[in-house]
Amino acid sequence: MKALVYHGPGERSWQEVPDPRIQEPTDAVVRVDAVTICGTDLHILKGDVPEVAPGRILGHEAVGTVTAVGAAVRNLTPGDRVLVSCISACGSCRFCRDGSYGQCLGGGGWILGHLIDGTQAEYVRVPFADHSTHKVPDGVTDGDMLMLADILPTSYEVGVLNGAVRPGDVVAIVGAGPIGLAAILTARLFSPSHIVSIDVADTRLEAARTFGADIVVNAGTQSARSVIDGLTGGLGADCAMEAVGTPGTFEDAVNLVRPGGHVANIGVHGAPATLHLEDIWIKNLTITTGLVDTYSTPTLIGLVAGRQLDTSAMITHRFTFDEFEDAYDVFSRAGQTGALKVLVAESK
Ligand SMILES: [Zn+2]
Ligand SMILES: [Zn+2]
Repeated sequence: MKALVYHGPGERSWQEVPDPRIQEPTDAVVRVDAVTICGTDLHILKGDVPEVAPGRILGHEAVGTVTAVGAAVRNLTPGDRVLVSCISACGSCRFCRDGSYGQCLGGGGWILGHLIDGTQAEYVRVPFADHSTHKVPDGVTDGDMLMLADILPTSYEVGVLNGAVRPGDVVAIVGAGPIGLAAILTARLFSPSHIVSIDVADTRLEAARTFGADIVVNAGTQSARSVIDGLTGGLGADCAMEAVGTPGTFEDAVNLVRPGGHVANIGVHGAPATLHLEDIWIKNLTITTGLVDTYSTPTLIGLVAGRQLDTSAMITHRFTFDEFEDAYDVFSRAGQTGALKVLVAESK
């Protein structure tokens, strides 16, 4: 088969590799029908994730069809259409018993396209297949389901639920990339009074409006804090989410929230940020961090299948497997290309 292989910082190729096979009785092999690229894959290609060894097949988000199952797999049979989650779960360790699958101690967690070969391939081996896949309901497209592999549960769990968004809240979301946009979509499930999207790229702020932001702020030309003050009588936002992953945007998020409010960090950080305890010790803030656990994926599948959540605008570009290198090129130049999520499949 062919797969997208990482060959060290800056080096990748779509090339012939051996087909995956069942290695453990809890494995399944899945034919990949649709796959996407994550911002995290770009971090890997920059060399920011040294655990990823050269030779690794990248990717941790896919929708596909089961082609083989190990002897211990109970819930899947060949022919089933499944979502391959970004998080694998052994199902029996201390954290899995608690629904904290992202922290799995039994060999799961974020392993696909990280510690083992991933989904950017024609076929993928999925460990702990019963706990690491979800069946695709009839009537849900591959593209809609694909958005539930990572970005929707990540923004919903780590942003909206950790941020304790409630009806009537003023919610500030710093960053309008795919994760920030997915946070807008899922925050709306709780009927906040205002969602304020903050970014420095006008193209992304336009997208934020189409995803449901009530107010957009270009932080390059406007003060987000004064906009939030205007909405809240000077108090600050009830919840501020950080969806970029830089020290400055984290500090901005902390600065936007009211006393007693929630700061939910979603961004992946590579450098220390300053926490101004001298200002906030007195403010009763709750600051949360997190890797997605994907405990909410069944809920999100129900919302998509029931047409309560429309993710269709997220996919801006489609490619065939043979065009995988082009897909990376377009996704990595999102500023120029306007790419949000790309979908790669056998045919367009
Ligand atoms: Zn991802
Ligand atoms: Zn586990």
